[in-house]
Amino acid sequence: MNIQEVLDDITATLRPELGQAGKVADYIPALARVPAEQFGIAVRTAKGQEYASGDCDVPFSIQSISKLFSLTLAMRAMGDDLWKRIGREPSGNPFNSLVQLEREEGVPRNPFINAGALAVADRLVTCGDGLDDILAFLSSLSGDAIGIDEEVAESEAATGFRNAALANFMKSFDKLDNDVAAVLHVYFRQCAIVMNCRQLARAATYLARDGVHPRQKTAVLSDRQARRVNALMLTCGTYDAAGEFAFRVGLPCKSGVGGGIVAVLPDKLSLCVWSPALDESGNSVLGMRALELFVANTGMSVF
Ligand code: GLN
Repeated sequence: MNIQEVLDDITATLRPELGQAGKVADYIPALARVPAEQFGIAVRTAKGQEYASGDCDVPFSIQSISKLFSLTLAMRAMGDDLWKRIGREPSGNPFNSLVQLEREEGVPRNPFINAGALAVADRLVTCGDGLDDILAFLSSLSGDAIGIDEEVAESEAATGFRNAALANFMKSFDKLDNDVAAVLHVYFRQCAIVMNCRQLARAATYLARDGVHPRQKTAVLSDRQARRVNALMLTCGTYDAAGEFAFRVGLPCKSGVGGGIVAVLPDKLSLCVWSPALDESGNSVLGMRALELFVANTGMSVF
């Protein structure tokens, strides 16, 4: 199969639809001004070949895709103890919802909703250097120096009232080790990390290689841990649309409100799609269409 042709076909098919459906995230100005008419896709195989098409080199705000990498670091640092204060069930609620957290006494449903990612950020502050660890990890995985967009980071902090509420809630249930401010600092800045499709496809390849680093022989995660991350992506990675994603795409995915989606086909490849306009759940409209086309056109699926 010629993967490059598949990617070029998807880009050509979606070109007339650019900017037609969905809405670019507008809760902060730096995201609101990203032009909607963009689409990129990149694939890295478990063996190391890379293919890309469209706006695959345009940097974007990775937002909640960062939760995948912070979770990986926390699993590495803490092993199974991590699951004492974080669940593994789909939430069925929007990613920034507060209601469940009160009913469930400060234990977030899963590590990919905001409350769960804040709990993970807390563990990273306890176990290491927080944000610096995430940036060093992403730089090692992608092979490029990865940084953050300071304007996005400042706006996240200036407008992150709901995230502050979630963190305070967890603190009130004695479920955070560290000061709320220290936890929010890591979370707001990890959301503001900037990468492109090629870098993200490369960074996620350990999930298609039983936990092994994309370009080294070292283990990022054990085989069992990598399978567990993939399971969480499938069941919880696209917020309250995870069922719809499993139905239509059928790959473990993690999305972000910058319009990126990372997907994994275990033992085969990792990919990243990006297009900024989002549906009501906060997932990229054309990103989801592209993943559907990729699965249909290649016949590759976990099912
Ligand atoms: N910065 C956003 C927030 O914390 C990230 C959400 C997302 O990508 N789903 O709400």
